[in-house]
Amino acid sequence: MVHNSGRQGWGVAGLEALLRRQRAVVALVLAIVVVVLAFGLPSASSEEGSTQSSAETASGQRAADGAQLGRTTGVVSPPEPQPRLEPVRLQPGEQPPQFVVLSMDGGCETRSGVMRDLLDTADRIQAHFTFFLSGLCLVPHDRSTDYHAPGHEPGESDLPFADPDMVATRIDTLSRAYRSGHEIGTHFLGHFCGDLSQGQHTGVGLWNAEDWRSEIAQARNFLDTWPVRNPTAQAADLPFDASVMKGSRTPCLLGDRPELHAALEAEGFRYDASDPGGLSWPKRFENSPLWNFPLPALRLDQTNLWVLSMDYNFLANQNNARTDGDQATCDRVEQQTYQTYVNSLDAVLAGNRAPLILGSHLNSWLCGAYVKSIHRFLDDTAVNHPDVQFISFQELADWLEAQDPAVLTELQQRPGERSY
Ligand SMILES: [Zn+2]
Repeated sequence: MVHNSGRQGWGVAGLEALLRRQRAVVALVLAIVVVVLAFGLPSASSEEGSTQSSAETASGQRAADGAQLGRTTGVVSPPEPQPRLEPVRLQPGEQPPQFVVLSMDGGCETRSGVMRDLLDTADRIQAHFTFFLSGLCLVPHDRSTDYHAPGHEPGESDLPFADPDMVATRIDTLSRAYRSGHEIGTHFLGHFCGDLSQGQHTGVGLWNAEDWRSEIAQARNFLDTWPVRNPTAQAADLPFDASVMKGSRTPCLLGDRPELHAALEAEGFRYDASDPGGLSWPKRFENSPLWNFPLPALRLDQTNLWVLSMDYNFLANQNNARTDGDQATCDRVEQQTYQTYVNSLDAVLAGNRAPLILGSHLNSWLCGAYVKSIHRFLDDTAVNHPDVQFISFQELADWLEAQDPAVLTELQQRPGERSY
């Protein structure tokens, strides 16, 4: 199931759109595109949790413990109502709110509680985030063949499957996130980035619309029927089902855009957040109902490097994509990342007021430098700019769609800002 019939890679499609609206940063983004394609993610095991050794119990014990055996779904359907920003329609000439959208690829709790800590910060500052769930973190090793990715054998994945003893914690954390108003989107499942330059036809860059729809259908199924694969996991039903997943970010930002968008539209999605962009107001993709919520290129503090606002792209530029470093390196990276966020927010606050979109994998690279910089940025912004609103992508879509078309057009026509 390999599909390579003359379709464009994301870099070309993304840049075509970019050329029309952001000529000033095209060359810079191109450099970033090259960085993204050249490196790939360093290792699946450092991403999206699920890296610890298995603590699976014997199957007989499982059956004996199986208070939940026979459970076929583990969700509330239709979903419970969720706290959500009520969009306010601007008057002509009125200054728009300053939004920050923090989006996490993975959305799976780790043993160290990285999601719990972020949810604690969110509660403190009244923030809503978007979690793009990597759904295999709910599929245990012994059920790996339930997953059949397009172009792959059953059970193949570039991300690890779940340690069974982590699944209940992840379900509880997702329940907490949803009830607190955070959005659950999808980062899909197997995270196949492949390496097109080496002629390997294994990545999502080669998937057609049908392939993407298969991946989405499996992602929904793994979420809605998580107890089937985890009969001994002691967790209450999720307060939502897969129908809440209305947005996506692709693995390594790859994927043929027309094919991906056709699949997302057919599946009722509202947006995709995988393109490169700038500090500008979002628009819909051309001839599409989908919103384009890109990762902007930010100027790395005290350098002339422009980097997409995703931790991996920072790492590639700050430490040659090496995930380990001494304390001085960790401190330098944390401070530079934090200051880059601050500079970027200052630029839009004083300028076009475009939403600031940030991405993270909540990884532990470089002593947790990226997670620490995010916590610092969130807490300090809440103090220094109490009017800033931290919202999810779906809330941003709600807000954009609530605006008078003429008002929205004026915002979208504002020139992009540069973060210096
Ligand atoms: Zn990823």
